[in-house]
Amino acid sequence: MMAEAGNAAEAVSPAFSLCVYCGSRPGNTAEFAATAQAVGNWIGLHGGQLVYGGGHNGLMGIMADAALAAGARVIGVIPKALVEKEWAHTGCTELHIVENMHERKRIMAERADAFLALPGGIGTLEEFFEVWTWRQLGYHNKPIGLLNMGGFYDSLLTFLNSAVKTGFMNEWQMDLMRTGEDAASLIEALVQAAGTASLTGRLDQI
Ligand code: AMP
Repeated sequence: MMAEAGNAAEAVSPAFSLCVYCGSRPGNTAEFAATAQAVGNWIGLHGGQLVYGGGHNGLMGIMADAALAAGARVIGVIPKALVEKEWAHTGCTELHIVENMHERKRIMAERADAFLALPGGIGTLEEFFEVWTWRQLGYHNKPIGLLNMGGFYDSLLTFLNSAVKTGFMNEWQMDLMRTGEDAASLIEALVQAAGTASLTGRLDQI
């Protein structure tokens, strides 16, 4: 099922489509919200499209509102169970209400040229790791970024590097994702990489 709002962002096809995973909570300092807002704003100002989980709470809602205000198309993809809890952002340009989490994640991945994780909790981590795993298995070839704002992901990166040292991961896997502390430069790098990559994949087979 899809609800679509008619607005000016409809008329022009977006310059790029970025899927962003981020917290359904706002975090404990105003810097998290400011970053989510800056990401939404950047996407809108650069003629992009935001694909995200379709919620209106926490960083998700802040980012989506900023993207809409800056003129971006915003595609929300949300399972019907979460809509029943009234967690959906009804202002999205397209709101896809889907049967389950699996369908949601496949559609989000299909509609994006690149993926970015902002600070978040277990939902964000699960989505980030899944899309990273799909990339290593060749289900897609789209760039993936982890925004390490203020060192939020330092301890995770330390752990991942220790998994490389202990032989459970390798550098090739680490190189499949980019990290950066500055949102604008990281998004620019992802968009540029998406423009040069062959985005063919097998997302229909996940
Ligand atoms: P978390 O990091 O645990 O806050 O979860 C955030 C991620 O999980 C988002 O990227 C969403 O895709 C999904 N998610 C978690 N909670 C919600 C919610 N209330 N509404 C929509 N999506 C959610």
